[in-house]
Amino acid sequence: METCMLYYSTNHQAAEVDFPAALLKGLAEDRGLYLPKTIPQLSAEELKSFKAMDYPELASTILNRFLREDIPADDLLRLVRDAYDFEVPLQHVKQRQYVMRLDQGPTASFKDFAARMMGRLMQYYLAREHRKLLILTATSGDTGSAIANAFYGLDNIQALVLFPEKEVTARQRKQMTTLGKNVRVVSIDGKFDDCQALVKRAFADPALAHLNLSSANSINIGRLLPQSVYYFYAWSRLADYPEPAVFSVPSGNFGDLMGGLIARSMGLPVSRFVVATNENDEFPRYLETGEYRVISPSRNCISSAMNVGHPSNVARLIALYGGDMDETGKIHRQPDLQRIRREMWGISINDEQTRAMIVSAWQQDKLLLEPHGAVGWAGLQAYLKDNPEASDLLCVSLETAHPAKFPEEIQRLLGFDPPLPPSLQGLEEKPEFVQPMQHDYAAFVKLLKDYYE
Ligand SMILES: *Cc1c(COP(=O)(O)O)cnc(C)c1O
Repeated sequence: METCMLYYSTNHQAAEVDFPAALLKGLAEDRGLYLPKTIPQLSAEELKSFKAMDYPELASTILNRFLREDIPADDLLRLVRDAYDFEVPLQHVKQRQYVMRLDQGPTASFKDFAARMMGRLMQYYLAREHRKLLILTATSGDTGSAIANAFYGLDNIQALVLFPEKEVTARQRKQMTTLGKNVRVVSIDGKFDDCQALVKRAFADPALAHLNLSSANSINIGRLLPQSVYYFYAWSRLADYPEPAVFSVPSGNFGDLMGGLIARSMGLPVSRFVVATNENDEFPRYLETGEYRVISPSRNCISSAMNVGHPSNVARLIALYGGDMDETGKIHRQPDLQRIRREMWGISINDEQTRAMIVSAWQQDKLLLEPHGAVGWAGLQAYLKDNPEASDLLCVSLETAHPAKFPEEIQRLLGFDPPLPPSLQGLEEKPEFVQPMQHDYAAFVKLLKDYYE
């Protein structure tokens, strides 16, 4: 019987913990990110068996290798079936090139894959220990709706989302405010930074410790591991066993890419990852020069969820290749850069190229992309041009949001409104539950105490 898997902090100054502890803590005490001490290895037989599994079976098989006796296999399969009750389309585009659409979840963003699983895992462990949590989160748009939807209806978790009333679109707002139940939404008469400041101060406030505040930020290990599953899924459906595939990943905070790298470390046959960024090109430049420089402030691009000048998951990437990077982006020990370069190919795609790609993909291939997916697809095309020998390989580019979430851009470039996916339909008619508030800490404390004490 294997013992439970331990998770270490990338800063190496915090104790190793088991999965439930890493999940409920989020960030380690030394501000490092948790990673499994060993990566489970899959046999050829297991890889072959994935073809016959549906998405939830595949997800529970893979996650089980990380969670082991922390959660019985039957319980895990039940959680996974509940989290992944939507399709994962693999669209054939041309030759051996496919687009994997990760945009069919409740918020039409690939963040649903990570957030829904994290919510259900947290709920599972909290219920077992008879504990409750209050998730506080500030959002400038999409994160809030993914979090709100991920925790919606879970018994041991309350979620409170703060958003700047003038900085989110009507559709983004309605995705959060029409839920109700355990999800409360507060609009602030200020900016995103004001929301963020209120949340941060509340986390540090000893007078609120009894409320069991927690964040659900993107660095949680419970969000990372589920993101390795869809790489296995695409490969098991499309590859001629055991051929390796090329994956192109539009990257911002590098959680999506880390999922792929973990899948590869487990034994998934991958020829190369194309790491496609927007104009925030710190990682492609690192691949080129071996020097990592944070971009601050980050550059504003139309693929706005990827406007990240220092992706926190790069510290995990460096750790996976034997190096050490702290949370500020300083490298204390160099990773195996040769190997990183063999396994990854970086490219930065600017807004002009992104828009041109949305137009040409639609006109030439009837492929409808939004800005993030267009960065990934443009990255793949650039890779194939530079590496013509790869064009015989299976290539999968990830589409991370639904085009209907970017109606203005698509209308301007292609001249039509993309049809809404079912998850975004009918929002107009639903009642909204939202509480307005001044950006004032005393008012925030009063609201927290009134609702949750
Ligand atoms: C968050 C996000 C990304 C970037 O994913 P990372 O894991 O942060 O690299 C890409 N596209 C969309 C639509 C996103 O919301």
